[in-house]
Amino acid sequence: MPVSKRDFYEVLGVARDAADKDIRAAYRKLARRYHPDVCDEPDAHERFQEIGEAYAVLSDAERRAHYDRFGHVGPGGVGFDMPTDIFDLFQSVVGGFGFGHERVASGSDLEHPLPISLEDVATGFSTEIAVGRFAHCEACGGEGAEPGSSREQCTTCRGLGRVRYRQSAMLLTFTQEAECPDCSGTGVRILNPCKACRGAGRARVTERVQVQVPPGVQDGQRIRYHGGGDAGPLGARAGDLYVAIRVRPHEVFVRRGSDLVCEVEVAFPQAALGDIIEVPGILKPHELTIPHGTQHGDALIVRGGGLPELRRPERRGDLHVLIRVAVPRRLNKAQRKALEQLAHAMDLDVRPQDSGLRSKISEVLGG
Ligand SMILES: [Zn+2]
Ligand SMILES: [Zn+2]
Repeated sequence: MPVSKRDFYEVLGVARDAADKDIRAAYRKLARRYHPDVCDEPDAHERFQEIGEAYAVLSDAERRAHYDRFGHVGPGGVGFDMPTDIFDLFQSVVGGFGFGHERVASGSDLEHPLPISLEDVATGFSTEIAVGRFAHCEACGGEGAEPGSSREQCTTCRGLGRVRYRQSAMLLTFTQEAECPDCSGTGVRILNPCKACRGAGRARVTERVQVQVPPGVQDGQRIRYHGGGDAGPLGARAGDLYVAIRVRPHEVFVRRGSDLVCEVEVAFPQAALGDIIEVPGILKPHELTIPHGTQHGDALIVRGGGLPELRRPERRGDLHVLIRVAVPRRLNKAQRKALEQLAHAMDLDVRPQDSGLRSKISEVLGG
């Protein structure tokens, strides 16, 4: 979910005075493209959610008028709540992709954290993870019935898994739907349960999953593996596996989007005269020109020294090098003499102090 909501018209790519049929057409097109079952992009689910919310508001004359007047937040600070399930919305407007998109009693989604380094972000990263999940029982093929025996349709819900009931309140009648209590939403009754899974249709396994992390991935981003979550009971659709990327903090670099920031110390003469130095890079060091007269705290930029952009890895961010001008803590005789001469040449009337210890002693002794 985006932190600040985008404009609903912008989300659907339609004009503010768009006709209902254009809004519907835009929704159908975008929803088919970003449906998480067919779209592999890491933010597909968020996009799909956003598109569904936009359509749910703009397709309803009353809610659209309200949105046009007040925007995302209505009077009293109340935003639009979403009474509509975005998948149900998709089902009713688009009607699916032509294959059974069953959402009844599907398995749970799983999340698996994957810590990676900033270097991994720069190059992309491939690894294998072990995921503990429910898989369909092999003995019964997930059916839950002992092989050779049959499953019967649940008579309460006639195999639908859901029951509807009507409810009246304040002159309005609602039709509500709930999971069928007699078959726990599965729509079937099993007379002779499978011995291997005791009729559950699924069993716990550990599976190895090959994970491909794209270059430029952000901390907190999730990679979705359709059907990689827990298998549903009695052969129902499996949930999804989400691999959640955790980018470990780096010793040298701080990340700002696709840019990197680091700090480099230079000596006063380098800052004053200019120099060419080597600075750390995420994959290899860079050569950096320090212009003469560089100040403490100046930021110098190595173009393209940052991280690749997600989905456009040929484009890279920059490296920002913050310059620290270091003051030497100790001076040998020659350095001290040279600095005194510099001070003289700069018309500075300096009164050099010896070590901090000595000046403390003289303070204590009163001069
Ligand atoms: Zn079984
Ligand atoms: Zn039932």
